[in-house]
Amino acid sequence: DFRHGVALYVEDISVSFDGFKALNDLSLTIDVGELRCIIGPNGAGKTTMMDVITGKTRPDAGKVTFGSTIDLLQLKEPQIAQVGVGRKFQKPTVYEQLSVVENLELALKADRRVRAALFAKLTGAQRDRLDEVLALIHLKDQGTRTAGLLSHGQKQWLEIGMLLMQDPVLLLLDEPVAGMTDEETERTAELFLSLEGQHSLVVVEHDMHFVEQLTEGRKTVTVLHEGSVLAEGKLADVQADEKVIEVYLGR
Ligand code: ADP
Repeated sequence: DFRHGVALYVEDISVSFDGFKALNDLSLTIDVGELRCIIGPNGAGKTTMMDVITGKTRPDAGKVTFGSTIDLLQLKEPQIAQVGVGRKFQKPTVYEQLSVVENLELALKADRRVRAALFAKLTGAQRDRLDEVLALIHLKDQGTRTAGLLSHGQKQWLEIGMLLMQDPVLLLLDEPVAGMTDEETERTAELFLSLEGQHSLVVVEHDMHFVEQLTEGRKTVTVLHEGSVLAEGKLADVQADEKVIEVYLGR
């Protein structure tokens, strides 16, 4: 049941690489519809955390529960995607030679739940969803455009659109505005804020201005350091936290 409560519960996760603890008793709760920014210096464990949630890395200890019941550690990577966890990596991987709309259609058809529709036309509902996604990702007038001709930012939006076609419950985004212009960054914030409530979003980000835009002065930010949560709270509060200042300045 994803209408209320917790979307993701990461509980006491530890991951070691050759004896080095990349994650050390990491715990994190993401609510349904929540937009959570995760910050932290290089090596803090942000990527490893995403890898554990998506089934790419198996932890040595801990639990990851999706919704109130689904034990993600029992599922393989593709199954985790199927139950509604979408991940956007840094580099856009759209089909450059296809149009914007074809990319979105392909994303829909790659979804096992609608694989039967592979050779069929989109249903009315799917067509409506595609139009809705096109508008959300600011590409309404670019549907027939070849994806390879889009700007870097537009390609990133298209890839987010491809994830949205599969109606994810939870979206994991790894430095989504890296390499974007200021205007693209602004519009990406707009996009994420319009997804909030409908989806849970976990955004790993270095760009503090972007984090500021996303959190709107009130949302919770999580600071990771040495594989666990160093601080959690409003951006202004964690930025004023002695421990956080030390970690960022002490590098
Ligand atoms: P972040 O994304 O916050 O920069 P990472 O999760 O990438 O941090 O890395 C956390 C720590 O784990 C780093 O010290 C990194 O060197 C180490 N690490 C990550 N992946 C591996 C791996 N496959 N083998 C060995 N060490 C790794």
